[in-house]
Amino acid sequence: MDGLMQPRPLTIAHILERAERLYAHKHVTTAGTERHTYVDVVQHARRLATVLDSLDVPVGARVATFASNNRRHLELYLAVPATKRVLHTINIRLSSEHLEYIVNHAEDDVVFVDRRLLPRIRPILDRMPRVRHWVVLPDGSPTDIRPDPRILDYDELLSGADPFAGSFEDTFVLADENLASGLCYTSGTTGRPKGVLYSHRSTVLHCLGTLAAGLIGLRESDVVMPIVPFFHANAWGLPYGAMMAGASLVLPGHSAEPAHLLQLMQTERVTVAGAVPTVWSSLVPQLREYDLSATRFLLGGGSAVPPTLSETYRAALGVPITHSWGMTEVSPVGAIGGTRTQHEQATPEERVAVRAAQGQPLPLVNVRIVDVDTGRELPRDGHAVGELQVSGPWVASGYFRVGADESYTDDGWLRTGDLATIDADGYLRLVDRIKDLIKSGGEWISSVELETAIASHPDVAEVAVIARPDPRWTERPVAYVVLREGSGGTADELLQHITPMVAKWWLPDDIVFLAALPKTGTGKLSKSSLRESMRMG
Ligand code: ADP
Repeated sequence: MDGLMQPRPLTIAHILERAERLYAHKHVTTAGTERHTYVDVVQHARRLATVLDSLDVPVGARVATFASNNRRHLELYLAVPATKRVLHTINIRLSSEHLEYIVNHAEDDVVFVDRRLLPRIRPILDRMPRVRHWVVLPDGSPTDIRPDPRILDYDELLSGADPFAGSFEDTFVLADENLASGLCYTSGTTGRPKGVLYSHRSTVLHCLGTLAAGLIGLRESDVVMPIVPFFHANAWGLPYGAMMAGASLVLPGHSAEPAHLLQLMQTERVTVAGAVPTVWSSLVPQLREYDLSATRFLLGGGSAVPPTLSETYRAALGVPITHSWGMTEVSPVGAIGGTRTQHEQATPEERVAVRAAQGQPLPLVNVRIVDVDTGRELPRDGHAVGELQVSGPWVASGYFRVGADESYTDDGWLRTGDLATIDADGYLRLVDRIKDLIKSGGEWISSVELETAIASHPDVAEVAVIARPDPRWTERPVAYVVLREGSGGTADELLQHITPMVAKWWLPDDIVFLAALPKTGTGKLSKSSLRESMRMG
């Protein structure tokens, strides 16, 4: 017997119309220089809807963005899916080869590009012949726009368009909640980039999952700053989440300079912000120069947040960095860290250790660990280490225009490629990525654990540990370290510092000091580039 409840579709159109009806006066601020209300933003999105019609962009077509976190980008986040097109957010730090590959593979129909990024596109424009229109998003930059019939101006298009006056939500029927709403390619550090195709349903459920109290728990009084780029797995759901909750949004624009980000957090009284650990680390030297007293929640993920980094924030602001685990394939948030009531009596050190865990799966997300060789599920005892697999309504079931893929198990779970433990309370702890483990003398060394130990030295700004081929042991760990400006840590000091923390045979064979470490397009440490440059060097 079916229940007697209304079968209403879950759609992003609802997020747009809710913000318009309930939170019209709340703000979206870009780079501290431009402030709009939600009603302005939604009005622009309504105009954009008719612009997309007049450009003959079909339902289901891919509408791409190549842009920083800014107000016009947010309007695209709303109008594109609300009109049943698919928002394809492209990483602005991709190489020309990857960019061209992704635009062609996605068969993007229109691309919206920040004016200052146009020079990245222009030399390869002719290699993406399916794109009919390139729409320039004004961003205050004076970048030259040479006349070209394919290139249009966003503001001009919008000012000449009537706003769509109806309800976007009413155009959806139940079956439509499974329509594709967004497309995001994985970084392709191993092989070709692969497209993850989100649906309205998955996006709304992910949004509700992260909004849940006790997790990120966004609320109307929040001022939310997604430092994480809009192209990095939907900025972890923060833009839609903030609009759903009625929180104001602060968007950093194109600059990721620490002083710019800190100034924005201070002036706008930001309460919630999300960024990868390398960004959080870059703010540390100036953290105490700003009034960040409005901060109540800081989210860190994409790679492990070293406990020392989180503790530095807790000491300076009274707010640690809450650890989150996710993947592009998981929309992206799969687990969120932090302590529970049972930890109230724990020692400060024990609480630091709990906060270092990647956390507990969100409601509706299921996780398990399996033996990499046998595929057998392993116990949740906090000790057994296996590959993390995940399933749930906002977890991908395959990749866009790719056939059967070995990333999915026969029973439909996603193989994450991460090694983890799960304890009796459901806390996940990531040990390493399978491909980053170091095999030494038949035993495994976790590069992440070594990095965490080295990062706990106050002179260390960044560290990456990778394997060096070794004739006797197969592989041995080598640490690459960037020191904080003005500090003078030596290799011996670092080795002494970590000796009590790790097994003797784990100690790196070498500690190499570098001026900077290579990063991926999403600002994470790129071990594959590091391996490459070390091989070449
Ligand atoms: P990629 O890094 O491959 O471009 P994603 O951004 O989707 O793509 O990254 C997902 C991966 O990032 C995870 O499989 C995991 O290895 C790593 N990761 C994400 N969050 C964390 C975390 N909190 N701690 C450690 N690793 C993490």
